[in-house]
Amino acid sequence: MVNARVYLSAPDVSGVEERYLVNALRSGWVAPVGPDLTEFEREIARRCATAHAVGVSSGTAALHLALLALGVGPGQAVVVPTLTFAATANAVVYTGAEPVFVDSLPGDGNADPDLVARAVGDLHREGRTVGAVVPVDLFGSVADHAAYADAAPGVPLVEDAAEALGAHRDGRPAGSFGRAAALSFNGNKILTTSGGGMLVTDDGALAERCRHLATQAREPVEHYEHRDVGYNYRLSNLLAALGRGQLTRLDEMIDRRRRLREAYLKLFAAVPGTRLLGDGDPGANCWLTTLVVEPGQAGWAAADLGAWLAARDIETRPVWKPMHRQPVYAERRAWLTGVADRLFETGLNLPSGSGLRDDDRRRVFEAIEAFLATR
Ligand SMILES: *Cc1c(COP(=O)(O)O)cnc(C)c1O
Repeated sequence: MVNARVYLSAPDVSGVEERYLVNALRSGWVAPVGPDLTEFEREIARRCATAHAVGVSSGTAALHLALLALGVGPGQAVVVPTLTFAATANAVVYTGAEPVFVDSLPGDGNADPDLVARAVGDLHREGRTVGAVVPVDLFGSVADHAAYADAAPGVPLVEDAAEALGAHRDGRPAGSFGRAAALSFNGNKILTTSGGGMLVTDDGALAERCRHLATQAREPVEHYEHRDVGYNYRLSNLLAALGRGQLTRLDEMIDRRRRLREAYLKLFAAVPGTRLLGDGDPGANCWLTTLVVEPGQAGWAAADLGAWLAARDIETRPVWKPMHRQPVYAERRAWLTGVADRLFETGLNLPSGSGLRDDDRRRVFEAIEAFLATR
C-alpha cells in the first residue's frame, strides 16, 4: 500500500456508514422511498437552514428541477459562471433555455457580480427574459449571493452549492441562498452517497413541485395518472442511509480538509508567485485546495508541478476548463474579462481528500518540497 496512488478527493467512508447502510438494507426499504430518505432530507435541511429538502439522484437533477419549478424554459436566458463544472450549464440546456456565461473574480474564482449586472442589463435591453441566475460556490467557497441579488433584481437566484455543503458566509450556510439550491453527493464531493444530490429551499410549493416532477409526475391517485412529463430523479433510501452516516462525520471531514489547506498554505507561504485560491475565506469547506502559480514570478508553472506529482502517482487536476472554451458551449454568449482563462492556465487542484492517510499526506508534501528544491 505504501506506493498506492494518491487521489485528488477520494471518498472517505468508515464503519459508521457501513452500519447505516446495512441497517437500511435489513429494514427492507430498498426503494427510492423510506425512513432514511425522509430523515436524510430533514437532516440536510437543518444543516442548510432551509425549511425543505428533496433528495434526488444527482446534483445535476436538483439544478434541473429547480429551474423547471421556476418556469425556466425555451426562449429564456440563464446566467451561469463560465468557471464551473459543465453540469451547471447542462441543466439549463435540459430546460430548453440558453446558458450565457460570466467571468470570475480573481480572488476566489466565483462569478463577478458586475458582469452579472452587465449580462442581465444587456439581455433585458434586448427584450430577453432572464429566467434565473445560477451562481456557483466554487470549490467550497460561498459566493457573494447578496451582490448577485443586487445585480439582478427580480431575477430568481438558484445557488449551485454542489461543492459547498458545510461552508458558510456571513453566518449563513451554503444552500440557504437564493430561491433554491442544489447539493451534490457525487463520489468525489465532500459528502458522498456514491451518487446523489438534494434540492433545498424555503419555498414549500417549489419543494413539492420538484418532489412531484422527480417521481415521474405521478398524480396522487391509485391508478397511474400524469398531467406533466416527469423524471425518475429520486434518491434511493439505501443511498440516503449512506448519506446519513456521512453526515455524522461532515464536521470532522471538513476539519481534516481545512487542516490540509492550512498545511499547503504554510508550505507555499514563502514561494514567490504562488497563492491559494479563495485564501482567507473563513467559511470555506475546503472541498478542493487550488494552487495558483504566476509563472513569470515563480519561474515555473502549475502544470510543471502537476507533471512532477503525476510521475510520483499523485493526482492533481487543472481547475474547471471555462465553459466559454468548451467545444459544446463555445458559440454561446459570454461576458468575459480573461480572469477565468487565467485561472485555468495558472491553477492546480491539489490532493484535498479528508481520507488522505498520514503517510500519503507526507508523501505529497515531500514530493512538493522536492519539486520546489529543484527550482
Ligand atoms: C459536481 C457538481 C455538479 C453536479 O453534481 P452531480 O451530483 O455530479 O450531478 C454541479 N455543479 C457543480 C459546480 C459541481 O461541482
